Amino acid sequence: MNSNGSKVGVSRRNFLSGFFAMGLGAAAVGLTGCASPRSFADEAAQTTIDGGEYDIVVVGSGGAGMAATVGAVDQGAKVLLLEKMPVAGGNTCFAEGGMNACCTRFQKEAGIEDSVDLMSSDTYKGGHEKGNMELIRHMCEGSSDAIDWLASMGIVLSKLGTSGGASVKRIHRPESGEAVGKYIVKGMTEQCRQRGVSAVCNTKVEEILMEDGKVAGVRATNPNGLPIEYKCKALIVATGGFGANKEMLAQYRPELRDAVTTNQPGTQGDGIVFSTAVGADTVDIDQIQVHPTVEQTTATLLSENIRGDGAILVNTDGVRFTNELLTRDRVSEAEWAQPGRGAFAVFDQSVHDNNLSIEEKFVSRNLIHVADNFNDLAKLMGVPEEAFVATVTSYNDNIANGIDDPMGRTKSLNPLVKPPYYALPVAPGVHHCMGGLRVNAAAEVLDANGDAIPGLFAAGEVTGGIHGGNRLGGNAVCDINVNGRQAQETACAYVFGDK
Ligand code: ADP
Repeated sequence: MNSNGSKVGVSRRNFLSGFFAMGLGAAAVGLTGCASPRSFADEAAQTTIDGGEYDIVVVGSGGAGMAATVGAVDQGAKVLLLEKMPVAGGNTCFAEGGMNACCTRFQKEAGIEDSVDLMSSDTYKGGHEKGNMELIRHMCEGSSDAIDWLASMGIVLSKLGTSGGASVKRIHRPESGEAVGKYIVKGMTEQCRQRGVSAVCNTKVEEILMEDGKVAGVRATNPNGLPIEYKCKALIVATGGFGANKEMLAQYRPELRDAVTTNQPGTQGDGIVFSTAVGADTVDIDQIQVHPTVEQTTATLLSENIRGDGAILVNTDGVRFTNELLTRDRVSEAEWAQPGRGAFAVFDQSVHDNNLSIEEKFVSRNLIHVADNFNDLAKLMGVPEEAFVATVTSYNDNIANGIDDPMGRTKSLNPLVKPPYYALPVAPGVHHCMGGLRVNAAAEVLDANGDAIPGLFAAGEVTGGIHGGNRLGGNAVCDINVNGRQAQETACAYVFGDK
């Protein structure tokens, strides 16, 4: 349960133990959050602690915050990274699919023709034509460069895959089959460590300090619960969405109030609250994505890669009901229309072998049915055996005979032929906030008149405008890297007087 009493996808305890187990605890990576030069008694004697002066303060150590931090340090800025949780990484740690990018060297090596136009139009269409084309194009144009930038630091996303709404193979993953988020967070944490970044965990930014209409710093709560102020010339807000904030979900989408969420408990919308308090505008704030394949008893996400690699969805009658590769919102709607408002994701050992997280997240926790044949799998699932076997057999036969899929599926038509076979009960869960702070392509935060608020920049899930009414799988990881860097470039230009 989170502080609002809602069930969250990953309990606080699991979230922490998971990352300490990965060696991403604060001390292990130089994120020296709990270290304080003053004693508690000294602090308590003061009303507000002076936390020092920086060129740039970055709030939030997810993918966007880390990309901004690393980039800004490399441009010579004095940077402070603040994180309210005890560990780094945010929801980025849980990203599994990969990073969408077009015209990359990995696509070229694989003979895949892609373009900024095609990726932009897929993103716009996938977002129900609600997205801001200027922001979309900017992300797509920067995507190949971001792949190269990550690779230059040893974070290599070279394995191409299929994801919902993408016209060509453009989702880039680690070669090992490791989940992309953990891989990037591990790599970027190491980059922060190598640069000796001063980062502070357990420190929650509460308020932006303004002087003469410009950002001048932040007020935060330190690990001892005391107020602390950090002065800065520029602030980069990278605090993620509000997918674990029951009140905000209820305010914007009442029907999602009691849905499970895949978000970590720190995903509370703080950046939206403290930025709007200084005049920031928001866009598409009620656009909240539900993901169709969430295991409901633990709110654990089954990655879209699993469908992209070949999984099918069947209902409790043992039959398919949708093209599994439609966009997330449409697959979720199709599931909600089934008996029990959910489905089973069914796949074979080949899909399992391609995705390391299945073993860790589902098999080892006994959450998934596993059987050597379809009859036994149907029995474990509790679905009509004859109907289920007929469903999988005809799916496989159609592929073998080149017959069009009756559900209209045209991609990843990989027959389920390698035992054992797997079936995971899934249903939709809250996953991503498409809306957020209004920004321009330079990552400047805008007010209601469309004017940039001097010194205020934002990147990642806290911003709105790119994904419109539906985010395509792989575009969040693209966004955090392209726009995390963009935010720091604009912030550095502002700080160093080039702008
Ligand atoms: P993105 O994908 O946009 O990078 P993430 O969810 O991965 O977003 O990361 C956002 C990070 O910001 C999380 O680690 C979260 O705990 C942190 N965060 C959120 N609000 C605050 C706050 N008020 N002060 C400091 N850190 C915050």
